[in-house]
Formats: sequence, structure tokens, C-alpha cells
Amino acid sequence: MDREGRDHDGDLMAAGEPDFDFDFVVVGSGAAGMTAALTAALRGLRTVVLEKTEFFGGSTARSGGGVWVPGNAVLSRCGVTDTAEQASRYLGHVAGEDTPATLRAAFLEHGPEMLDLVLANTPVDFTWVPNYADYYPEAPGGRAGGRSVEPKLLDASVLGADVTSLRPRYLPAPAGITVTQANYRWMSLGTSHPRAITTTARVTGRMIVSRLRHRQLLSMGQSLAAGLRAGLTKAGVPVWLSTPMTGLEISGGRVTGVRAMRDGQPIVIRAARGVLLATGGFERNAEMRHRYQRAPIGTEWTVGSPGNTGDGIEYGAAAGGALTLMDDAWWGPSIPLPGGPVFCLAERSLPGSIFVNAAGERFMNEAAPYVDAVHAMYERHTDDNPHIPCWMIADQRYRNRYVFTGVPPRKPLPRRWYSSGAVVRAGSLAELAGQIGVSADGLAKTVDGFNEFARTGKDADFGRGDSAYDRYYGDPSCKPNPNLAALAEPPFYAIKIVPGDLGTKGGLRTDERARVVRDDGSVIPGLYAAGNTSALVMGRSYAGPGATIGPAMTFGYLAALDAVSGG
Ligand SMILES: Cc1cc2nc3c(=O)[nH]c(=O)nc-3n(C[C@H](O)[C@H](O)[C@H](O)COP(=O)(O)OP(=O)(O)OC[C@H]3O[C@@H](n4cnc5c(N)ncnc54)[C@H](O)[C@@H]3O)c2cc1C
Repeated sequence: MDREGRDHDGDLMAAGEPDFDFDFVVVGSGAAGMTAALTAALRGLRTVVLEKTEFFGGSTARSGGGVWVPGNAVLSRCGVTDTAEQASRYLGHVAGEDTPATLRAAFLEHGPEMLDLVLANTPVDFTWVPNYADYYPEAPGGRAGGRSVEPKLLDASVLGADVTSLRPRYLPAPAGITVTQANYRWMSLGTSHPRAITTTARVTGRMIVSRLRHRQLLSMGQSLAAGLRAGLTKAGVPVWLSTPMTGLEISGGRVTGVRAMRDGQPIVIRAARGVLLATGGFERNAEMRHRYQRAPIGTEWTVGSPGNTGDGIEYGAAAGGALTLMDDAWWGPSIPLPGGPVFCLAERSLPGSIFVNAAGERFMNEAAPYVDAVHAMYERHTDDNPHIPCWMIADQRYRNRYVFTGVPPRKPLPRRWYSSGAVVRAGSLAELAGQIGVSADGLAKTVDGFNEFARTGKDADFGRGDSAYDRYYGDPSCKPNPNLAALAEPPFYAIKIVPGDLGTKGGLRTDERARVVRDDGSVIPGLYAAGNTSALVMGRSYAGPGATIGPAMTFGYLAALDAVSGG
């Protein structure tokens, strides 16, 4: 069968012996793929992982490494009390409209056992991220204290020589600096809170010690990817880098193998028990983005991994797999800086900043979950009143207190940010508005109103600071509302905001065993999909920190179990 979906019975494999013979072929070396391969190998399947690029880890290695799996052993160990009933109610509430209940139930039932397997068979350990709230903590079953775990620091020596093939993290950092998610929350507060200062001191101390000991510590997604990779080595699973899948082999209606390029040669690999497509999303494929997603869209605003060009989705669809949610993504407001986009996280929740459209008006709770924030940008965007880009407006007090995309408080922002037009600075709001083409009257009125909200502590327009999630990235020393402060101290800053993403979320439709299904719901034998190659269990929503990686790992695990059981 080729990319256009034609079934070549009597194909390469039928014509002769395949070049390689495995039970389970996993395509893609991210969280979904590596978890699946580990599971399959531990259950006795001869397994191989193919990775298109020269690095393993995909977006997973670039990521924060957060894992949202309610009811797992790490949460219990950390004293988080939760019940299956609460988690189910919550997921049903936030994702219910767009996902079948069977998928949600499978995720919640098997997620904890998947994490047990990873804990028992890899060097990576996890810990609860204290109070990193669910994204809708006030929804039924939601948890303000959070259900997210993150990988603990991991010594890169577990990888041996493979350390050079670990996909680099998304933002470069000084050598030896390893920041966990929990550290980031406090460090973003700069010098405005005692905990920020102690956390920064601790992270700096850790950097000095690890440099002196010539140790490389990994955190977040790099720790997760390295831990899974080390587990694969121990389980005897080969990971073939620079080996792109170039097609599926189908015989008698069943997916029987994969075609790929290895060392510049076409090869055929038999997969006796099945093929898992775990090639990530299509965030780096401009043609697919234009075909499926709303304008304006391209590939320049994503922070997803360079190899994620939708290959698994296209090959799976050509084999008859149904596609769903293709217009959506793990969106997030992002700053188009000259070196590449920066995903805006704590920056937009901290007090002393607002987002405005071309009319100079606020149009959302700036601290809202990031998928919702970009949905708001697209939904309100019109030719008459553009919301793409929109602008984050902040004052000098904000710059004096907080870290801004890695730049310490008070330190001037890099000149190239200004020359690129991503950041603009002016002595007055009116001047700033003129420079960015935003209504000066509108902006003045908006800031007056917002400054009054800051004084009273209540955002009467959008409720910023009402949710425990908003407050997680707020400044606890800012009273009466940790997310609200007046914009009053010149100079003022305008930062360009575009609809970025962590990756796309639409893809192949799968069942509760991660089997790819056709439009009529029938299963394509031998074909599985997980992670961002599949349309995940979150529907259009994002339940909490780690809600892409948690399901990716769980459905990878379930695919492997199904292949083990004979498919
Ligand atoms: C900066 C950043 C922070 C994030 N933080 C979090 C977080 O904390 N928690 C969370 O849940 N999510 C987070 N995300 C999102 C999350 O990383 C992804 O949704 C998730 O890792 C996707 O996993 P995956 O296994 O589907 O794909 P990936 O990890 O992207 O792996 C896919 C792999 O497949 C390979 N591939 C593609 N095509 C082929 C082919 N033809 N043949 C062989 N290989 C191929 C790719 O090169 C890639 O290595 C973050 C993302 C980013 C970028």
C-alpha cells in the first residue's frame, strides 16, 4: 500500500522476505512510542523503535515532562487524596463532549498501572508538582491541589553513549542549569518573593555542584525521555535513529509491517503483531496546517519537535483510518522572538500585564488555560478588529519584579527583540499604542478600568485570579489579588502575542485499545496509534498539566498490551 492508500497485495513483503522481522514495530520515539515499546518488550514481543531524526525524544524531550494521570502511585506517595469517581467526573466534564466515555474510562483505569510499569522498569522517578492545579479546578471533580507529577532530576549518565542523541530542550539554558517545573513557578517571580530567592539560590547551587562533579542532570521532558530510553536499552529494544517510516505494508486487509529508509536504503520490516504510529502531530507540516486549521496559521509559531510532520497521520489515513479534531492543537499564546517562538506561561498570569486587541480592549482572562486563551484569539479575530497578533501590555514595575522569558528582572530585554518588532517600548501608553497600531483611546480606557480592578482585587470583566489555576502562576505577595496590579509606571512595554502551540492534537481515531478505526468504527487490524498521532482523550480541552503526555503514555501502553494479546 502506498501513501495514496492503494493496497499492493503482492507487494515487497509478499514478493520476498522482509529485511527485518519483529513482532511489534513502533514508529516514533516520544512518550507514546517509548512507553509502548517498553511494555511490549517486557511482555516478550520482539520490538523495535524507528525514529526519523538523529535525536530520540521528540516533543516529549523538549517538554515540561508533566504527566497527568489521576490516581497514580506517585500521587498517593505524596499524600494527594483523590478518587477514581472524582477524576472521572472531572474528565467527563472537561472533555466529555468530544470523547467517547470508553476512551476516558480506559485512560483512567490503566494510566496508574502504566506509570507503575515505567517506575519499575526505568530509572526515572516522579514527584507531585505541589498545587499545580487542574486547569479547571473549580469544575466538578477538579483539584486545586493538582494531579500532575513531573520527573525527578535524572543523571544523564544513565544513557551512556546515547546521551548525545537525546533531543535538546526547547530553550537553551546555561550549562548545568536544571530547572524543574516546581522550580520554574517560583523562579519566575524574580526577586519579588522570598521563596523565589531561595529557589534560585538552590538551583544555582545545584548547577555549581553538578559542574564540579562533571555530572549532567536532566529535568522535565529530558529526564522522562532519557529514563524511557534507558529502560528500552535494559529491555533490549533497539532504537533506530535517522530511520523514517515511509509507508505501511498491508496484506489481506491487515497491517503487517512498515517500510522505512535506513542508511539511505529502503527497507521492509515485518511486524507480526502490529505497528504503532507514534510520530507526534503535524505541527511542522505547513501544507497540513493550511488544509485543516484556521488562518492565520503556519509552522513558525509552534514549539513542537522538528520531526513532527504528520507522517503517521497521513499513512494511517491512507490505510483507511478516520481523522478527527484536526483543526485543534495544544495551543498557547506565544511570543514570536527572533530566535524562535517562546510559549508564554507564567508571564501572562503575573500581575501588571494585560492582553489587548487592535481596539485596545482586553478580551479574555489572560491567566486562563493556554488552549482557551488561543481559542479566544481565533474566535474573536476579525479584519475590523484583529486579535492575531494581540499585544501584551506591561509596565516597568512588572519588568522590575519578574523574570520575563528567561530575562531576569530589571535587565534590559535584548535589542534584537525590539528590532524584530516582537517587543516595543514607549514612555507613555498613547505613544506605545501609536507604535503598535492599537487604538490609543481604547488602550487608555482599558488600562484605567483594569487599574481599578487591581485596586479592588476583582476583575469584573473576565474574573482573572478567581481560579486556583490563575493564582498558581500569580505573585502571592501582590495583594489583594495575586494576578492583578495596576499598569502605572513608565516606560510601558508591548509584546507581540501569536497563537503558538505545543503540537497539534487532532489525528487518527482510535478505540480504547488504541486500535485505529475507520469512519464506520471498524478496526484496522494490526494498526495502532497513540500520542499526538491520535486524537487524544482530551477532546478540545486540556484537563491539567501533563494531560498530553499522560494519555500518550497510557494509550501507548494499551496498544502494546493489545498487540501482546494477539491484536
Ligand atoms: C516546550 C514544550 C513543553 C511541553 N510541556 C508539556 C508538559 O509538561 N506536559 C504535557 O503533557 N505535554 C507537554 N507538552 C506537549 C507534549 O510534549 C507532547 O504533546 C507529547 O510529548 C507528544 O508525545 P508523542 O509521543 O505523541 O510525540 P513526540 O514526543 O513528539 O514524538 C514523536 C516522534 O516521532 C518522530 N517521527 C515523526 N515522523 C516519523 C517517521 N516518519 N518515522 C519515524 N519517526 C517519526 C518524531 O521525530 C518524534 O521524535 C509540551 C510540549 C513542548 C514542545
